[in-house]
Parts: sequence; structure tokens; C-alpha cells
Amino acid sequence: MRTLIISDVHANLTALEAVLADAEPYDQVWCLGDVVGYGPDPNECIERIQALPQLRCVMGNHDAAILSYIDIEAFNLEARASLEWLETTLKPENRSWLAGLEYRLEFDDITLAHGSPRNPIWEYIMDLSTAKQNMTAFETPICLVGHTHIPCIFKMDGEKRSSTHLYLMPPDDEFTLEQKSIVNPGSVGQPRDHDPRASYLIFDNKENVWVYHRTAYDIEAVQKRILAAGLPIRHASRLAEGW
Ligand code: ZN
Repeated sequence: MRTLIISDVHANLTALEAVLADAEPYDQVWCLGDVVGYGPDPNECIERIQALPQLRCVMGNHDAAILSYIDIEAFNLEARASLEWLETTLKPENRSWLAGLEYRLEFDDITLAHGSPRNPIWEYIMDLSTAKQNMTAFETPICLVGHTHIPCIFKMDGEKRSSTHLYLMPPDDEFTLEQKSIVNPGSVGQPRDHDPRASYLIFDNKENVWVYHRTAYDIEAVQKRILAAGLPIRHASRLAEGW
């Protein structure tokens, strides 16, 4: 069974399509939230994602904001502008689909959460200290998170959470996860590690191996749609640089 793991699609259909084509073949898909926000294709991305095979998807902070689960004032000005645009663009049936998402899912030795296992909506796991604190917030050997838009692994060496280390995995290399780990696949629709290519993970449970991939997509086409929609220019320019 090959699982495709995606996160932070952020309404970027061109990046999503590039990942879905590049990742083939896969039997099921896990999505770590923020399907919408920033980008120009919220309805198209929701409709594409909900049709993916054996989908499991959790809610992100942008998804929660459009449902008014969190205050829009908590976002910076430009993120807020895209949420206000989304308010007028999102179809009612797609809003209902977002409303049906869980904050956190646990199954088959895996936990899924957008931000962190202890605070799925808001917490960013950017550093070792936050990763260590979260190691006791999930029971399964592996927790998958998104939210930072930066691909990485925090691995607990041995039984002690104080011996947690950060690993940056090279693209296209297979790796295994024997220790308790928090893994971030990076972002499909708005990478922030200065590599503008869309980011995703594949997990093969038969071989018990993981592979992290990057794939290029037509960034200019997305930038044109962002500007045509009247969304902030910053959401377009950052895509070319990957920040
Ligand atoms: Zn995000």
C-alpha cells in the first residue's frame, strides 16, 4: 500500500495537480490541512481532494478560520484579505465539507494533526524544544504535521524525549522511521524553505519506507490567477522564491 501525504495545499490547484501526477501510483491519501487560504482555487482544490482514494484529512487553521472557528483578527493583514475573498468565493457544499474535518486523527500507528498533536490548529513545530514537548502528546509511533510549510523530521532517539533530534531529509532518498517521530511533508501550494517546488511524502507500508519528493509546477499560471482574483500581490510573488 502506497500512501501519498500532502499538506498546506492552500488553494493552489496547479501545484496539487503536479503532485498528484508526480506521485503516481498511490492507493490512499492523507492530507494535513490548510486546503484553502492564500491561493486562487479553493473550490477546485476541495473538490479534487475529496475525490482522492481513501482520503483522510484534518482541519488546518485557514480551514477553521473560514468556518469562523477561530477569529479572523488572529491572522496578518494579507492572510486576512485572502480569507475575506474566500468568504465570497467558497461554495456552500465545500464549506460543509471543511466543517466535517476533524482536528486530529489516529489510526494504524499514525496520528495526523495540522499544527501539533497537542494544539492541532495553532502550534508551529519549528524547533527542538517544541518538538520535545509534543513527543508525549501522541500515543502512536509517528505523528504527521504540516503548518510550518517546511519539510523535516524530529526523531526521538531512545526513550527520552530530551534526546530528540532534527533531520532534514534529502529529496528522493528513501528513509525509515524506527524511533518515535514527528514528520512534516512540507507544503504543496506555498513552500517556505526557499525551494519553490511543491513538496510531498510517500509512505510504502509494505517496505516500511518513506520518500520525500519535490516537483516543479507552472508558478506563473498560479500567480496570474492570484492577481486576477484581486488577492494580495505578496501571495503571488512569494511562490517564485519559496518563502
Ligand atoms: Zn498553511
